[in-house]
Amino acid sequence: MALRKIALVGVGKIAIDQHIPSLAKSDDWELAAAVSRHHQVEGVPNYKSMDEMLGAHPEIEVVSLCMPPVPRFEYARAAIAAGRHVMLEKPPGATLSEVYALEALARDAGVTLYATWHSRKAAQVATAKAWLMGKAIERFTVTWKEDVRKWHPNQDWVFEPGGMGIFDPGINALSIVTEILPDPIHLTGAILKFPANRDTPIAADLDFYHPHGATVSAQMNWDHSGADIWDIEAVCKEGVLKLEKGGGVLLIDGTEQPGAIGQLDGEYPQLYADMAALVSSGASEVDLRPMLHVSDALTLGKRQQVSAFEW
Ligand code: NAP
Repeated sequence: MALRKIALVGVGKIAIDQHIPSLAKSDDWELAAAVSRHHQVEGVPNYKSMDEMLGAHPEIEVVSLCMPPVPRFEYARAAIAAGRHVMLEKPPGATLSEVYALEALARDAGVTLYATWHSRKAAQVATAKAWLMGKAIERFTVTWKEDVRKWHPNQDWVFEPGGMGIFDPGINALSIVTEILPDPIHLTGAILKFPANRDTPIAADLDFYHPHGATVSAQMNWDHSGADIWDIEAVCKEGVLKLEKGGGVLLIDGTEQPGAIGQLDGEYPQLYADMAALVSSGASEVDLRPMLHVSDALTLGKRQQVSAFEW
């Protein structure tokens, strides 16, 4: 079958680390153009403006938006207005209401909108979800700690309004939680730590209501030295499940389960395979539950000021 043509917009860390290599290996997609104000992608036509690219390439069906959340709405709106299917990096927007607006625009235009959650595609997430089904969960704990300097070097946007701070990685944990927990949860309290010189939190502790009485909590910290900790533990009457390495490794009662692969490996290729399936079937996928919890934390959370953050 002929490859479908796709354009990447916003060529920064994640486009270079994941999107470009995943598209190069894909059996579904051909990277046919890039839009970047500062970079050039080798081997394809490069544009500084998305409108120019859309005008020059009516054959490009899909636009994949890889820039930070705040500027994304305008790009998505324009691509949908030009009749293109749209794939959104996570978090899908700066606010819930702008993503609802995109959903409505895509529906009216008859195009696919895919709000991606790459961490849901980690190797062991589906197995963890299946194991938890029907289990009596007593305690469910998320520990998400990494060094912002490692994954977002000098990216000031993460500390600007809409950048979400610790929730930029923390929403990855929440995307897994909302995928694998059989019952819906909602936030009951949060403590948010804001550096004195920044507009978004660098750490957060979250507590949730669980309909069957489990204790559900999350500790997230972006000023963590040492190895990344991306763990989710579910203590159940029937045993203990632990997802480590962002969903790549699964232990049941301390025994590692087969099927682990490296961090992020396979996640982005799976997102692009999903997008091909969504476009083929004329469907959209926009699940905003991870972002609802972030929005609730920013609404309900108690704010504490901590030392100024410098890179
Ligand atoms: P980044 O490198 O700081 O930015 C990506 C690119 O977005 C920039 O190179 C720039 O591209 C474009 N951009 C930035 N500000 C813009 C603006 N105001 N208007 C238009 N374009 C703008 O960020 P990133 O780390 O790739 O993250 C981008 C998204 O991917 C975020 O939502 C993040 O949560 C998600 N993500 C990141 C990682 C990671 O490890 N960093 C992992 C998974 C997901 P041009 O210079 O080409 O215009």
